[in-house]
Amino acid sequence: MKRVLFLDLDNTIYPVSSIANEVFDNLFKLIDQHLGETDRQAAEKAKNELTRRPYQQVADEFGFSGELKEQGMQLLRNCVYDKPMQTYETYDALRQIPIDKFLVTTGFTKLQMSKVKMLNIAGDFKQVYVVDPEQSNKTKKDIFQKIMQENGYREEDILVIGDDPKSEIKAAIDLGIDTFLFDPEGKYTNENVTHHAKNYQDVAQIVNK
Ligand SMILES: [Mg+2]
Repeated sequence: MKRVLFLDLDNTIYPVSSIANEVFDNLFKLIDQHLGETDRQAAEKAKNELTRRPYQQVADEFGFSGELKEQGMQLLRNCVYDKPMQTYETYDALRQIPIDKFLVTTGFTKLQMSKVKMLNIAGDFKQVYVVDPEQSNKTKKDIFQKIMQENGYREEDILVIGDDPKSEIKAAIDLGIDTFLFDPEGKYTNENVTHHAKNYQDVAQIVNK
């Protein structure tokens, strides 16, 4: 029996690909101008990674110059998404489970909060946390622990749901919390997770077990 769900946002509640072009348009142009001139392959790979991972990580990994890194940061720091957005259809199955839910997402605060607003999901959660690498060194693992302490949840009370084995899934495994890897495209095989599925139809059953 689970008492609470911890959810990721990007590619867990909605597909980033549905908004990526508009959000990243200016940033991609900037990357093409700087990195694309010298290393086209790195530029393409970096752009692809940016739709899935935090900007700061990708910038470091692909050796963005100080100037490119700062200009990209400035763009994203002030970026909001203000067009209609849609959750995955299968998200309704999670929404209907009548237990507490917390949203824990990594990214720029303004942008992440604008997506929560356009998806109209704030009401689904007891609280929304943005892990913003620009504002703090805290990680998802730190936030999970904070929520546990503040609400008296034990490890076995929780199910962590996300799409990224290296992010929320890893944090949950480190803390001894059960995991549900959402993998709509069947990208992963063995990631040491508790549950692994292409949709959320079995989560209610998992929660009640
Ligand atoms: Mg994600």
